[in-house]
Amino acid sequence: MTDRITEKLQRMQEQLAAGAISRRDFLRYTTMMGVTVGAAEALAACAPKPTPTAVPPTKVPPTAVPPTAVPPTAVAPTAVAPTAPAPAAEKQPAAGRMIRYNPQLCTGCLVCAFACADKWMTKYFPEEAADTINLEFSRIRPMRFQWVDVLNQCQDCRLIKWAEGSTAAPCEQVCPQAAIHTVPEGQGEASYTGYGYLTVDRELCTGLDLCGRCLEVCEDQFGSGISFDPIQKKAQICSRCGGLPACVDACPEPGALAFFPQQSNGRYWANTPSAMAELLFMKIYQQRRTV
Ligand code: SF4
Ligand code: SF4
Ligand code: SF4
Repeated sequence: MTDRITEKLQRMQEQLAAGAISRRDFLRYTTMMGVTVGAAEALAACAPKPTPTAVPPTKVPPTAVPPTAVPPTAVAPTAVAPTAPAPAAEKQPAAGRMIRYNPQLCTGCLVCAFACADKWMTKYFPEEAADTINLEFSRIRPMRFQWVDVLNQCQDCRLIKWAEGSTAAPCEQVCPQAAIHTVPEGQGEASYTGYGYLTVDRELCTGLDLCGRCLEVCEDQFGSGISFDPIQKKAQICSRCGGLPACVDACPEPGALAFFPQQSNGRYWANTPSAMAELLFMKIYQQRRTV
């Protein structure tokens, strides 16, 4: 086991002990790192225990001593400010951002995809999600090419108003059901949709077997930010979790995934995964990828 993995395991044990992650998450993340289920259970069991809270000593009733009559000296009460711990700042959703990943920091561990799949599968198929996580529910899709890993995800690309007459997304334009739409700030479901990000209305989408036009248009150009759930085959798109991306929070590599202000139309960032793999390879190794 490398030092980095050992270090990460220790960090997760500390987080488990502090209650920052659940036991289920601990087991999930450690097994994804290649630890066997038995070993993961053992690691969870030997996570450092939280320091026990000091128990105040039991008060022993004082033996009654006849009081000596001493006139009490008046002491002005000192105002002691209560030392209540400051509440943890709650994350606020952010609009106008994009998710970018740094391929040099991304290790291809799939934790982002598990977090995404877990979130959406639990939302739409809680029964199936009770004992399994299916990566097909993930809207962020790590793809393994020879020598480079590529994260594929909707880049929120838009048509160009002056040239194409609209600022809609191509998938939004072609959907015959108007199922793909932008949910404005103030609407949507907190931590799932809203804040100006795209979403798919599952009631309206007729699914891959009958339609799939959104997939085609995206795949032709960028390839593809659209996926389909394996149960009802309805379209799925990254909604940036309504401005609170779970994948970014879950990523164990600092800086590998970032949620930062969108600087240009996502079209300039979007590439087919294979083109992205070529670009990344050249960038990282300063030579063409020969397969
Ligand atoms: S990248 Fe694909 S899924 Fe995302 S907005 Fe563009 S066409 Fe739609
Ligand atoms: S598959 Fe669904 S979301 Fe995609 S174009 Fe068809 S109806 Fe619209
Ligand atoms: S932002 Fe949310 S929907 Fe998009 S890939 Fe990340 S976890 Fe999935």
